[in-house]
Amino acid sequence: MYYRDAQEFMESTGHEIGGRWYPRVTSIVSIKAKPELYRFYGQLSSFAEGEAIKKQSADEGTAVHNVVETILLGRDPDVPDEIAPAVSAFLAFKDRVGIEVNPQWVERLVAHPEERYSGTVDSVAAIGGRTGILDIKTSLSIYRDYGLQTSAYFAVAKNVHKMNELTTRWILRIDQYQLCFRCGASKRSKGGRAKVRKPASSEIFPVGFNECDHQWSPVRGDVELKEFGNWENDYGAFLGAKRLWEWENEYWLEKIGYLA
Ligand SMILES: [Zn+2]
Repeated sequence: MYYRDAQEFMESTGHEIGGRWYPRVTSIVSIKAKPELYRFYGQLSSFAEGEAIKKQSADEGTAVHNVVETILLGRDPDVPDEIAPAVSAFLAFKDRVGIEVNPQWVERLVAHPEERYSGTVDSVAAIGGRTGILDIKTSLSIYRDYGLQTSAYFAVAKNVHKMNELTTRWILRIDQYQLCFRCGASKRSKGGRAKVRKPASSEIFPVGFNECDHQWSPVRGDVELKEFGNWENDYGAFLGAKRLWEWENEYWLEKIGYLA
């Protein structure tokens, strides 16, 4: 990654909290290679196209985040039409499962002064009588990599803020898709680009995926909650990633006095 100066490096990779600069969790975990991402870039005509899709997809993700966090805080947000199916699926899910957030811990910027990192926690919530880090994603799937990020937030809440009641971590994936009536394929639009997936099982549908001239259903919401156990294992890997991130960015970290 190229940075013009120390200021740009600090702004793009970290936060200043209480007069001290800390690298942010999302920058640190980006050091880990993501084969899925290379496959995605490989399918496109240019790197710039990939960047544009990623940017639009991130904006769509931010819109869902904002609306969901507002609902979790007990308020009534304006819901843009484009994300209405995802939001109604979330509302139904929330009523069924029961999600109570700690209002102090919604979109909260935190730092770990000893381990020296910062990050924004989506929420701390109680679900089914237990309390955990609840991180919201709008991705196509729930990836194992999310364990790194959420373990870092868990350690801050548990060890720095002494949240003894904290016992677990969840990823809440909120998305929307269309289903093909004929073959059972699903279509998701991310960043203005449609991604069609083969059906998991084709037996119950009249037409095979490869022969199908798809007929798509109206857009429907999709919500999935997944628990991540064994935070210590993920946290060990996160601290390893952080060490590698520091090594990669030694030039700038030296300049800003972080390594002193
Ligand atoms: Zn089809």
